[in-house]
Amino acid sequence: MHVILIGCGIAGAALSLTLQRAGISHLVLEQASELSEVGAGLQQSPNSIRVLEYLGLKDELARIGVPPSAHLFKDYKTGEVYLKTPLMPKVEEFFGAPYYHVHRADLLDIMVKAMDPKNIRLNCKVVDVKENDDWVEVHLSDGTVEKGDVLIGSDGLHSMVREKFFAPEKPRPSGCVAWRGLVPVDVARNLGFEQNSYVWMGPHRSAVLYYVCGGDLFNWVGIGPYNDNAKESWSQTGSRDAALNEYDGWNEQIRELIAGTESLFMTNMIDREPLESWVTSRVALMGDAAHAMMPYHAQGAGQSIEDAWVLGRSLEMAEGNISAALKKYERLRLDRANRVLLQSRAAEHLFHMTDPEEVSRRNARFARHQQEDQDGFPVGQRWLYSYDAEKAVMGTDDEWRELSW
Ligand SMILES: Cc1cc2nc3c(=O)[nH]c(=O)nc-3n(C[C@H](O)[C@H](O)[C@H](O)COP(=O)(O)OP(=O)(O)OC[C@H]3O[C@@H](n4cnc5c(N)ncnc54)[C@H](O)[C@@H]3O)c2cc1C
Repeated sequence: MHVILIGCGIAGAALSLTLQRAGISHLVLEQASELSEVGAGLQQSPNSIRVLEYLGLKDELARIGVPPSAHLFKDYKTGEVYLKTPLMPKVEEFFGAPYYHVHRADLLDIMVKAMDPKNIRLNCKVVDVKENDDWVEVHLSDGTVEKGDVLIGSDGLHSMVREKFFAPEKPRPSGCVAWRGLVPVDVARNLGFEQNSYVWMGPHRSAVLYYVCGGDLFNWVGIGPYNDNAKESWSQTGSRDAALNEYDGWNEQIRELIAGTESLFMTNMIDREPLESWVTSRVALMGDAAHAMMPYHAQGAGQSIEDAWVLGRSLEMAEGNISAALKKYERLRLDRANRVLLQSRAAEHLFHMTDPEEVSRRNARFARHQQEDQDGFPVGQRWLYSYDAEKAVMGTDDEWRELSW
């Protein structure tokens, strides 16, 4: 069996490592000339870290990752904590794998370094893909053609594989833009930020903050209403004054953080509609190509990593029946990823409420949870974090299947 992957983001790299571990011949075609510093902070929870550990990255994760103590949900103005849920070390004791904050570039770097270089080719823009009864073929911009037995679309939000085989619909603009910045650890420490994951919630906007890069940098993302200048890009810069203007009336801790940020970026936030199918006989989607989602539950990359394990292991166990392996992958993954996509979309309202009565009801719910839940983990977190992709493949995930979100 020879597998061709289009795209070497987190999804493609994770699948390459899973196939490599199983000794399955494959080639990742990536259009970029180098896999450089794009993206920002990523929160990785036990469901994805577990897979990365299966892939042999445990020590490297501990080197690049920052283990936060807790999630704190706070008021945008007063800074009052409405809900505090535990993270490390309790999350590891409870769910069997750690929770880390990482920089996307660091995570991709440790994954790509673990890949056999013969399995990846950079500078390869795919311009067309075809599926035949007995093979798939991929046409590159330089006129060359690659053939294989299976084609994987790990080509992100604007996936051409999705467009060609599954859904030619346009991505859904969310109406929000993400402001992003990284500040040196000293600036964040002087402002009183501890090693936590912070979510500040205000009318129409929120801000999420945490340490990355082994604790050397502090990452913040502020999500608020779309403005005409924002593009869907990781590298578009934004003005500090404009960001301060957007966060007018917010707590001084947040405003000083923005004021202390050297370079600001802005990304137009986009997701996709859930699909009813991700596979044909020889083609499968994964990662953002299958289920690009809003970042409120911090699961886009995590779901991509889960996809990779289940898809790679299903192909490993296929005994030559590729179509059955792809169907199995879809059966095990589609519902879960689509549910996370829809829950992530719904969470925007939870974080950005404007009606004071609704805000009071939400905060009362948080307070009830804080008092009543002995372990401290909300139901959504239990459902997300306790998923074990290997148990899913082996059909030994009954305990997880009894949970709901
Ligand atoms: C503000 C923000 C915060 C986020 N926070 C989190 C978080 O905390 N935790 C989390 O888990 N997720 C988070 N995410 C989501 C996460 O970043 C994505 O889900 C994840 O990076 C998707 O990976 P991917 O490999 O599927 O796609 P991508 O990273 O987009 O990779 C696709 C690759 O395919 C290549 N490609 C595309 N087309 C072609 C072609 N025609 N030929 C060759 N190559 C091609 C591209 O160059 C690219 O390298 C966040 C996202 C945003 C926007």
